Amino acid sequence: MSTKIPILDIPKYHADEMLGRVHSFESFGTVDGPGTRFVVFLQGCLFRCKYCHNRDTWDLDGGQLYSVTEVVEQILPYAKFMDASGGGVTVTGGEPVLQPHFVGLLFQKLRENGIHTCLDTNGYVGVYSDEVNHMIEQSDLVMCDIKHINDHKTALREMRSMVDSAVKLLKGNGALEEFGEMLHEAWMIKRSLSDRITNTAIDSIYSAARSAGAIGGKLLGAGGGGFMLLFVTPERHYLVRERLEKLFKVPFRFENGGSQIIFRNSVL
Ligand code: SF4
Repeated sequence: MSTKIPILDIPKYHADEMLGRVHSFESFGTVDGPGTRFVVFLQGCLFRCKYCHNRDTWDLDGGQLYSVTEVVEQILPYAKFMDASGGGVTVTGGEPVLQPHFVGLLFQKLRENGIHTCLDTNGYVGVYSDEVNHMIEQSDLVMCDIKHINDHKTALREMRSMVDSAVKLLKGNGALEEFGEMLHEAWMIKRSLSDRITNTAIDSIYSAARSAGAIGGKLLGAGGGGFMLLFVTPERHYLVRERLEKLFKVPFRFENGGSQIIFRNSVL
């Protein structure tokens, strides 16, 4: 099942053109695919790789808006150099798959101009859609960077090590937003443990909530039913509610009594 929820808040059309959120351009890349390449770094990434050296690309609302034509205009003066070296254009990030519609249209235009296209991605496709399909079709080359090989012991140790920090934060030592970041980190680790932890629908909800301002979240419940718990600062509540308006909101509060029996059948 595929649910279409826009991941990034980008106006779909501006002067009849698709806009993309761009972090920066590099006109002479030599390590991002074959030959000499013009590299387009897109803004926004949902991963939080510890070794990331492009952290300024994480913010989903950052960067600058460019139309497809504006980006093509930046690229065309370099076309001869790219062609002579067997190169082309690489779109990377951040994570370009968060803006599939824009990348698909950009690649289409570049190919019409005889320019080789390369998609450099971390492989995270939260929502599979026609736009993702089109983007892949328009890519001459896809470079999938595997960021981390599953090692469950390390992952479980990392999750265990978060407990003490979480307790400290909940006791008031540190900014509460860090608890949200921790939830996000734990969810990303947990979903990497097995392909049965989440599914496309859950990923869509989570991505949509994050793009509307939720800091982190996790699934609550078991046995085929449950809830998505989200950590959202008060000023962003309405944005997240608006984005997830089709979902049922369950009121939430903390309580101090721990687990309690709320129904008991003495016959059983
Ligand atoms: S996927 Fe890339 S941009 Fe995103 S956090 Fe990892 S290294 Fe950084």
